[in-house]
Amino acid sequence: MKVKMILPALSEAESPFWRPIKYSLFPPLGLATLAAYLSPDDEIDLQDQHVEELNLNDTPDLVVIQVYITNAYRAYKIADHYRKQGAYVLLGGLHVTSLPDEAALHADTIFIGVGEETFPQFLKDFKNRNPKKVYNSSIRTLEKIPPIRRDLIKRNRYLVPNSIVVTRGCPHHCDFCYKDAFFEGGRSFYTQVVDDALAEIERLPGRHLYFLDDHLLGNAKFASELFEGMKGMNRVFQGAATIDSILRGNLIEKAAEAGLRSLFVGFETFSPANLRQSNKKQNLEKDYIKAVNRLHWLGIMINGSFVFGLDEDDKDVFKRTVDWGVKNAITTSTYHILTPYPNTRLFKDMEQQDRILTRNWDLYDTRNVVYQTKNLTAEELKIGYDWAYKEFYSWSNIFKSSFNHESHKHKLKHFFYTGGWKKFESVWNFLIKTKSLNGMLPVLESILSKVKIDKKEIITTEEEKLQPIRI
Ligand code: SF4
Repeated sequence: MKVKMILPALSEAESPFWRPIKYSLFPPLGLATLAAYLSPDDEIDLQDQHVEELNLNDTPDLVVIQVYITNAYRAYKIADHYRKQGAYVLLGGLHVTSLPDEAALHADTIFIGVGEETFPQFLKDFKNRNPKKVYNSSIRTLEKIPPIRRDLIKRNRYLVPNSIVVTRGCPHHCDFCYKDAFFEGGRSFYTQVVDDALAEIERLPGRHLYFLDDHLLGNAKFASELFEGMKGMNRVFQGAATIDSILRGNLIEKAAEAGLRSLFVGFETFSPANLRQSNKKQNLEKDYIKAVNRLHWLGIMINGSFVFGLDEDDKDVFKRTVDWGVKNAITTSTYHILTPYPNTRLFKDMEQQDRILTRNWDLYDTRNVVYQTKNLTAEELKIGYDWAYKEFYSWSNIFKSSFNHESHKHKLKHFFYTGGWKKFESVWNFLIKTKSLNGMLPVLESILSKVKIDKKEIITTEEEKLQPIRI
């Protein structure tokens, strides 16, 4: 059987602000995971439109398309095209799970939720010429899943081909997050068996890994055993975790010892009222500066995530957030305009209050205002958001922020990582064009090398330590 698996490009890919490098980071792991359930005799073509031109002139028997909100319209067009040609088309992913009725108009079969249980079921039914219209995931387990078909990934087109996911979901329930909608009707946080995760790591070449898990430290026992097993593997890795998990116990030290060198942290907002509005309880009453200093002390770089446009935000929120990031030596900041994704609690609340302004999913990219704002006008929010990005990544702030570290090595790492990521677009574009992005891995690995920090690294003053920002 000829199988085509497609990740269509997000609508951002057409924006004048599109940064090709941002979409050439990670390969389509979800599709490669599902491909593992196909037969070795199947002829599989996995295409990621972010890094290659789609070939739509082929004649596959089965087409599997992964749908996010901002590639939905493009995914539907591709699906319609293949259906017209007589192929059997499957749609799955976050957006399909949020709006199954919309997606079903463009598919022979849709998948709701995770696919590890339902895709093999579908394949059996398809073989017996009796596939269902809808497959709903209910059993949630990562035990005995076959190894991901990484051979289908064009490694040289990605900066981080060694991305890996060892858990599914997250133990928290933030109102603006897709997670609860995606995992509805079953477990919403579960992990691989530690030995399987370690075996998957062993299979990956080189030193660098990027864990794409929503919350790598979410299950302390699993994470602790994983890091124990990774000791001595000589890996450097990046991942994501919450503030409370950084502050609790010594898991973060174990992660650092195993090779953790940079962490994505959802700070989101400094306002307790905003946190309550978002049901982001895990950040409430947490000392952000203490968490940041703990990471600095361990030599772990920080990618801070911040949301603008929550109801308590005022005109000063942009400057406050950027200044805080620079002062606290946050390595990179990711800013988002609050976006109510369909079927999340945030969307339902806003819909009830009649605050949803558009259902053009292409605009749901966290760069546009799609809802009725409260304290800020939509224009103020958009201008403030654009200003924050420009300001945080100005050379002067990159310089200031880097020099807020004590050790020279940390200063240099911060400077090269942030500057390299944001200020050398033409170099990235050249590497992408020449399909040699993967060649940058040794540089990334050396920037992520260990920093030995002494206790002087803590950058807050004694006075600030006595009066930490508690939110
Ligand atoms: S902590 Fe992150 S992944 Fe978990 S529910 Fe909140 S936003 Fe989603």
